Amino acid sequence: MARPPSPGLRRDIALVVVVALVAAGSVELRAQSATVYRFTFAEREQQIMQVEATFTDVPAGPLELHMSRSSPGRYALHEFAKHVIDVRATDGSGNPLSITRTEPHRWDVDGHSGEVRVSYRVAGDRVDGTYLAVSGAHAHINMPAAIMWARGFDHRPIIVRFEPPAGASWRIATQLLPGRDSLTFTAPNLQYLMDSPAELSAFALRTFTVADEVRTPVFRVVVHHRGTDAEVDALVRDVETIVRETRYVFGEFPAFENNTYTFIADHLAGNRVDGMEHRNSTVITSPQPLATGRSDHLATAAHEFCHAWNVERIRPASLEPFNFETANVSGELWLAEGFCNYYGTLVLRRSGLVSVNEYAREIAATLSAVIAVPRPRSAVEMSRLAPLVDGAAVVDTTTLDGYISYYTWGDAVGLALDLSLRDRTGGRVTLDDYMRALWARFGRSAAARPGYVTSPYTLADVRKTLAEVAGDEAFAAEFFERFVEGRDVADYARLLSRAGFVLRERRNSPNRSAGEPLEVVPAEQAGQPLTDSQRSFRDAWLSSRARNTF
Ligand SMILES: [Zn+2]
Repeated sequence: MARPPSPGLRRDIALVVVVALVAAGSVELRAQSATVYRFTFAEREQQIMQVEATFTDVPAGPLELHMSRSSPGRYALHEFAKHVIDVRATDGSGNPLSITRTEPHRWDVDGHSGEVRVSYRVAGDRVDGTYLAVSGAHAHINMPAAIMWARGFDHRPIIVRFEPPAGASWRIATQLLPGRDSLTFTAPNLQYLMDSPAELSAFALRTFTVADEVRTPVFRVVVHHRGTDAEVDALVRDVETIVRETRYVFGEFPAFENNTYTFIADHLAGNRVDGMEHRNSTVITSPQPLATGRSDHLATAAHEFCHAWNVERIRPASLEPFNFETANVSGELWLAEGFCNYYGTLVLRRSGLVSVNEYAREIAATLSAVIAVPRPRSAVEMSRLAPLVDGAAVVDTTTLDGYISYYTWGDAVGLALDLSLRDRTGGRVTLDDYMRALWARFGRSAAARPGYVTSPYTLADVRKTLAEVAGDEAFAAEFFERFVEGRDVADYARLLSRAGFVLRERRNSPNRSAGEPLEVVPAEQAGQPLTDSQRSFRDAWLSSRARNTF
């Protein structure tokens, strides 16, 4: 759709689809019946959620039901079927149907006459961005861990109804679109549903708006925690700063579906440390209370919010669409993840949430992990390892010879590219310009199908875009051949010296044992004068865009 439909139309996505098909003269109306999911929580104290799914207008033959084996943004296999219990199926009249479990993650239902109602229980106790957790306190739902989907139903509209336990005072936070009442939500298709986590709890909720030149999206911050209101208020102030500063990088906000972006945070003892990006929301989890976990939370929020552009909309073709039956293999995660690492930290610095010295320490940690180690694979090849290392417990990455995280290496590539562009153009062209060019070319256009990306990019595309932004094809070719597809690293000492930083071996070495042989020190603290040229280079790089961009 070119423009988001009005809220009135959103109330019944199924209706929208049917009307559109009538207009197109289609006779396939029956094929567009909505799939309906209902979630209930009578067994929450046993950490179990009950799910009912109703599939109508089912074609003749067995209905092939699947639990996912992967989750958007988590690049490894997970086999969510292992937590599913008591799968039953009936027809529309309640008569039992036969179920055959043909694969570990697949159930075939036969003997129906066009309608299949499936019920199952799914257990979950892991609070992170990938799994399901149900307890007396909340339901923290990542859809691929909870949803049984039917082959061939990918493009049907979906209705989701959450039924919180009576008396539990749970509210619902999700990027799913509003439905006909406060417990009912919709998704235009399976990809959007799978990308839409939900938190049901007695959470704190704050909202704010930030305008760009075109639109004024609403930002919701949802925090399930046991701290104080003042801690939530302080967090939200800083999140708003991050939102404003990140928008200056990309120039404008994406057209969030329903004009809303939701930060969903869970700070309870026992949680995993995690962050997961989605199209119009992010999930941030931590075992720390806000009182001690705020700075980690902000670092995660900055990384994940960058993803609202980079990966959620500027998306590599290798991740589009997500395949729930296997893991997508992508050679572009150095850009999709690494550049959000780079911008996450940079935005914290530009927002004033970390000092120049703290920022320099972050760079040192990144460069220590990339420069001072063997590099048997390129950043592209490291990206392609993601299905084997990203949350895949079977592989211990510390023993995988020569493994460098694509998050870290991509972060270092982003730093090299930003400083190189600034260096060679006297500050006229920066990495922000490159991100805006990628945004304009691959991200901005409205999705023809919500939940999908219209113009996903290839490695050749982003190389070509760099040549255009830099105005120099040879520079782009050399940069990609050496630092992206090759195993070289840039001359960071020279590049950092342009901004008045000294990159050197760590002298008094409390952190050497932690694998950080390098340190980055502001020149003026290393006994070197900071020249006017270095000072203005540093300011243009590390100061807020608010002053000089808008
Ligand atoms: Zn990420």
